[in-house]
Amino acid sequence: MQIYLTDVENLINFLRLSEENQKKILKRPKFPLLIPYELAKKIKKNDLNDPILRQYVPLIEEEKFKENYLKDPLQEEKFSNEKFIKKYKNRALLLCTSNCFVHCRYCFRKFLKKVDNKTFENELKLLEEDKTINEIILSGGDPLTLPNKRLSDLFEKFEGMEHIKTIRFHTKALTTFPSRFDTQFFEILKKSKKQIIFVFHINHQSEIDDHAIELIEKLKSFNFLLFNQAVLLKNVNDNSQILEDLFKKLVKIGIVPYYLHNLDKVEGSSHFEVSKERGKRIMKELLENLPGYMVPRYVEEIPFEKSKTPIM
Ligand SMILES: *Cc1c(COP(=O)(O)O)cnc(C)c1O
Ligand code: SF4
Repeated sequence: MQIYLTDVENLINFLRLSEENQKKILKRPKFPLLIPYELAKKIKKNDLNDPILRQYVPLIEEEKFKENYLKDPLQEEKFSNEKFIKKYKNRALLLCTSNCFVHCRYCFRKFLKKVDNKTFENELKLLEEDKTINEIILSGGDPLTLPNKRLSDLFEKFEGMEHIKTIRFHTKALTTFPSRFDTQFFEILKKSKKQIIFVFHINHQSEIDDHAIELIEKLKSFNFLLFNQAVLLKNVNDNSQILEDLFKKLVKIGIVPYYLHNLDKVEGSSHFEVSKERGKRIMKELLENLPGYMVPRYVEEIPFEKSKTPIM
């Protein structure tokens, strides 16, 4: 049984795209197609406006050249010592893999050097030595693409470091590959003495299905903190009603909206751009319509700043 859609022709058939619509699909994308069937099932057939399709299916607009759209917009390679990024105080991010469950067309790390399958000896040494770090953020790629054995080895190392109080996952698995949350993975989490935080990455409420809700119930029962970061994306979620629906739904199931990111200007993603002016108008409407805890911080990432920069 096939788990992922990786071939554009198969995708076109799967989505039953009309000939007219097929012309708008990019047949040989530089950043390869990758969508789990589990996720592709949630896409409406023959509808190029589907918010899931727009996030994960390569469209011909990706080939449009636009100035100031770069290969490494956050200049992360400058901050990384091996695959360890310490840009902010007290917390460090470990790019533990380049693998993902899905390829998001707007991803700002899509052109970065690949992380090999490795044991992270150097990174763990740096982490061990730097006692100012009390939170380790597992990112990537998607850290949950690592097999349980490797995660459990990493966790064991963290458990031995007194100064590490919190382990945070940045993952899309909840809505793109929920079956990854298997019994063994829950065992690793349960055994840990550290505080565990999940930051999911959900941009539209159509991504949240019953499977995700079931998992959230389970994660909540262990008292993990659950947050969401979204990216403001043109023709996906760039109006206040769509975001309002998303944030209400998240809070209803127990996830706190944490960040709304402005798009990072990475090559091939200019068709997702929403101006900051428009973003601010959307935020204003959200603030008027929702209780404060449902409104995430609207931020952007500026290289060399000491935190994400609030836009509003
Ligand atoms: C976003 C980010 C973090 C986490 O920042 P928080 O504001 O704590 O969520 C840490 N390191 C890097 C490199 C980041 O990009
Ligand atoms: S899952 Fe994350 S790292 Fe992977 S393509 Fe999407 S945004 Fe990029």
